[in-house]
Amino acid sequence: MATAEVVYNSNDHRIITNAYQLKPFTRRSVVLSFDDGPSKRLPQILDVLAKENAVAMFFWQSRLLHPQREWQQALKGGHVIGSHSHKHPNFVSLEPWQQEKELTTSVRVLETITKQPIRYFRPPFGQFNETTLNVASRLGLVTVMWDIASFDWALKQKPEQMVSNVMTHIQDGSIILLHELEQTVQVLPTLIRRIKEQGYHFTTL
Ligand SMILES: [Zn+2]
Repeated sequence: MATAEVVYNSNDHRIITNAYQLKPFTRRSVVLSFDDGPSKRLPQILDVLAKENAVAMFFWQSRLLHPQREWQQALKGGHVIGSHSHKHPNFVSLEPWQQEKELTTSVRVLETITKQPIRYFRPPFGQFNETTLNVASRLGLVTVMWDIASFDWALKQKPEQMVSNVMTHIQDGSIILLHELEQTVQVLPTLIRRIKEQGYHFTTL
């Protein structure tokens, strides 16, 4: 979960908030990104994505990759997995060596289990400092934030508000922050349809 405004800006070129920073697109594309999994909602999210023929990015807490969670399907669907740390601490409150340990553990676990190289990192709570960026970069990780926070975590009672949060601010290359939550699953088909109606395709970094 993160605390933030709906729109996130950064002038720091080391932080990715828009997909176009990393690659040019020939057609209008946006990125759906889901934090905090793999959760028990993941199969439902993957079903919706498959039905809509959409790819997404999943930033996982590596401690959650136990066999009972059906995370394998995410790899088959062509989705991209990134690190959301091992235990989801606030990196700003950690010593440098602790930040390094969180990230190395997370990448090691994710790579060992998924057999895929991990290239992207999203800081828990969207919180980071210079040390975080340096450690991530030393480990070959690109730090990925977002330009639109759906605020899904705060909208259990008002899920349709997440759709308007996104649709009000969507632009070419937008990276949309979502979570593996029940209310998110509920409105995901609507959200995807509305995004498609605006002429956007879905991509990953
Ligand atoms: Zn999180």
